[in-house]
Amino acid sequence: MADGSKMGRPPIGGEIDAVVVGAGFGGMYMLVKLRALGFSVQGFEAGHDVGGTWYWNRYPGARCDVPSLFYSYTWSEELQKAWRWTEKYAAQPEILRYANHVADRFDLRPLIAFETRVVAAQFDETADRWRVTTDRGDELLARWLIMATGCLSTPRKPPISGVDSFQGPTYHTGAWPHEGVDFSGMRIGVIGTGSSGIQAIPQFAKQAEHVTVFQRTANYSVPANNTPLTEKDIEDFWKMYPAYIAMVKGPGMGFGGNPANALAATPQERRQRFEEYWGVGGAGFLAAWGGIITDIDINTEAADFVRGKIGETVMDQKTAESLKPNDHPIGTKRICVDIDYFQTYNRPNVRLVNLKETPIAEVTPTGVRTTDETFAFDALVFATGFDAMTGTLLAIDIQGAGGAKLKDAWAEGPKAYLGLAVAGFPNLFTITGPGSPSVLSNMINSIEQHVEWIVGCLDHMRGQRLTRIAADPDAQEAWVAHVRRVADKTLFPRAASWYMGANIPGKPRVFMPYIGSGYRQKCETVAAAGYEGFALTGAALTRATEDVHAP
Ligand code: NAP
Repeated sequence: MADGSKMGRPPIGGEIDAVVVGAGFGGMYMLVKLRALGFSVQGFEAGHDVGGTWYWNRYPGARCDVPSLFYSYTWSEELQKAWRWTEKYAAQPEILRYANHVADRFDLRPLIAFETRVVAAQFDETADRWRVTTDRGDELLARWLIMATGCLSTPRKPPISGVDSFQGPTYHTGAWPHEGVDFSGMRIGVIGTGSSGIQAIPQFAKQAEHVTVFQRTANYSVPANNTPLTEKDIEDFWKMYPAYIAMVKGPGMGFGGNPANALAATPQERRQRFEEYWGVGGAGFLAAWGGIITDIDINTEAADFVRGKIGETVMDQKTAESLKPNDHPIGTKRICVDIDYFQTYNRPNVRLVNLKETPIAEVTPTGVRTTDETFAFDALVFATGFDAMTGTLLAIDIQGAGGAKLKDAWAEGPKAYLGLAVAGFPNLFTITGPGSPSVLSNMINSIEQHVEWIVGCLDHMRGQRLTRIAADPDAQEAWVAHVRRVADKTLFPRAASWYMGANIPGKPRVFMPYIGSGYRQKCETVAAAGYEGFALTGAALTRATEDVHAP
């Protein structure tokens, strides 16, 4: 694996067609496409190499909850055939190897300045260009600014009293040390039981002397039933590949649903099907019956089923009761996929602290104090999530037309047209931005769809010698209202989830992803109608000729 580090490089300047921020799966594919179409392009990436979320989230047990064969780019069948996944659900190191394989195979690193954060971007209305500046002193003028910054890329520690006072080592699952951590012989405290905590805790328990888990909200989790991939699995995958591609490239892309009608089935039939889906494992459990995410009765049956499984698995009934989620419908917080999570509480070296009964009062220099007890630890792990979907974008000082700031435009929650563009911020695109299916879909599929749409748009602009594309505020308002209306027909708004911004005190409560169907078709219709809902302007597009890449 080549090291993408560019320590000591001279600043990058000049004029260029496009800046791409982020070198995860979104940024890498964007670079491939733009370069292929002859656009001059510069990528920036905060990490020292490619991989995005899979670069940062290296905690033990980190795995994708989408089956590996479907968590691969589809834009190159050659690539698809060359890469051999080893497990049904790939672990983080394997996914990172895949990202590196892509970077090597398509020679992407020369296009990317690593260890570099974009800190500001100002739109110059006279030139129709973004002035992009970084923490390494780079200053570039770019016609197009493409944010491939990911949806879960700003880890956050909660504002618990004394949170930074602990004297021992502290870790966040979303920014795990690259050299790994050895907890052997240690007593550790873990705060947080979302997907990251639920994956990591069983691994910590195998190594540490003792693990204390601080749980505020009990979460629904389905066993992964992970297995090695066999030759037959791969053969079967290729047999159904054309149908799979037809499905993901089909008009319906967005949040699908199983048409199986739960109401027409008997309780026994419903239970049997829940058992079948539980046996298969994974997040697909939510597709056991249509309506789980919209009908509270069906949802409650699914939730009861999972609560029953927790009760059967966890031996200590007080612990089991605490682990049973009871304050939100199943699926309205991201459903977790685990390996031996609930079984881990049967180990003698693991203890659950139910923060609903005894909240954390403070983090102390030696551990954690709840309203009931004081705990001493050798290390503390925060599995406390991210400032999702907007945090990374708003950490950059983005100023659009007339100097308007993105943080002001989004003061009441993110507003974006199709989740792709923001009114008042011309020539800026967000890959899997708020208002698009993003985190509710297979991210790889959504990334590909956005990249292809954006590149098609830029190619159109160039062909027409246009230099500015701006989302129309009315079109944006209508889309945002539609996104909200669709969400309100589901059970999602009933949970205090990160989808709603509820995990960050003071963040506006808005359901951020798009949960409707037909999203791809909508985007294609907009493009086919000459980019309906956008204003396209500009006279002469002068191609940048200067080579701005760092040596
Ligand atoms: P998360 O789902 O936001 O979970 C954060 C956890 O920290 C929650 O249990 C939360 O409790 C707890 N917490 C936050 N503030 C707290 C406080 N002040 N006191 C006590 N507890 C507190 O974050 P995550 O687990 O990192 O997962 C985020 C998302 O990343 C997932 O939903 C998923 O989309 C993605 N992810 C995917 C995978 C995968 O593919 N398998 C793995 C990891 C992450 P509350 O619920 O009460 O707020």
